[in-house]
Amino acid sequence: MDKLLESLLLSDGISGYEENMSKTMTNALSKICNKVETDTFGNVIGKFGNGDKKIMIAAHMDEIGMVVKHVSEKGYIYFIKVGGINDSILPGKIVKIINKEGKQITGIIGTKPPHLMSTEEAKQSIKYTNMFIDIGLSSKEEVLKIVSIGDQIIFEPNAGLLSDDFYYGKAADNRIGCYAMVKVMEKLSKVSRLNAQIFACATSQEEVGLKGAKTSSFKINPDFALIIDTTVAGDVPGIEEKVSSLKLGKGVAITMIEASGRGTIVPQKVRTIIFEAANENKIPHQIDVVDAGMTDGAMIYTNREGILTGILSIPTRYIHAPTSVFNIKDVNAAIDLAVKIVEKAIKQF
Ligand SMILES: [Zn+2]
Repeated sequence: MDKLLESLLLSDGISGYEENMSKTMTNALSKICNKVETDTFGNVIGKFGNGDKKIMIAAHMDEIGMVVKHVSEKGYIYFIKVGGINDSILPGKIVKIINKEGKQITGIIGTKPPHLMSTEEAKQSIKYTNMFIDIGLSSKEEVLKIVSIGDQIIFEPNAGLLSDDFYYGKAADNRIGCYAMVKVMEKLSKVSRLNAQIFACATSQEEVGLKGAKTSSFKINPDFALIIDTTVAGDVPGIEEKVSSLKLGKGVAITMIEASGRGTIVPQKVRTIIFEAANENKIPHQIDVVDAGMTDGAMIYTNREGILTGILSIPTRYIHAPTSVFNIKDVNAAIDLAVKIVEKAIKQF
């Protein structure tokens, strides 16, 4: 696996705790950009190029996770969830609590065993408030020596190859978007006479309300913004084709509308250049019309007096689970298409 992609998947950074991700992104972008800065909000913004036109590429760098809320007298750790997590995926999972010194402490999410549940209890799904993390220490005092209330908790880092072009990894949403953004910047930096300022923004706190996208796009005030994120793939058991027809390996998804219109409704003239770029360059693509869920695009396109925004989404299985699956061909299609879209946007917007 590509070293940068692997380090992004393994890196920690739930919303608001993105310091390590910010270092990884700063390192990667510093090799390409003239200037890279982390703003007050925590967004990492890299820039190169000159000219009147301003283009912003954005990919969120935060991941979903948990935060330590309480430690019981017997040393069990209670937590809150940060971002959209379905409680049913949590029991038995291995997690890492990252303490103030940056040390990762291994824990297991525990629940009451089914053998001891009443018939009524066994029928109900277990709420996260009835789960706890076991780090193998037996008292509150011992736990609080290495863990603090407010520490971030991530799923156990993992990344690897399944077969051919199929990869798995923690936080594929949206570390594969971050990877794609760096590659897009690399390719654009080699295009001569772009005549535009190109900004790459690794946004902070997307999973909890698209917050970094709001502050960073206000600051950059681009003529055009392109979001790179992940989207739910429909090629797994239990999802009907009419609900999602997106398949891994069939190309990057071009998002038209999100959250039944409450999210981004990609403007017609943006859709036009995206499809032109895809068709002219024969880049494999699929179309995404999203019933629920939105991206940073929703915040950016309504910022200031409105900012022209497009969204490329990489189909991903098991989004917001401890491990997701994606196809590297779709990531590469997103990179190729993003480069062509930016070239067109500079001329047309
Ligand atoms: Zn995402």
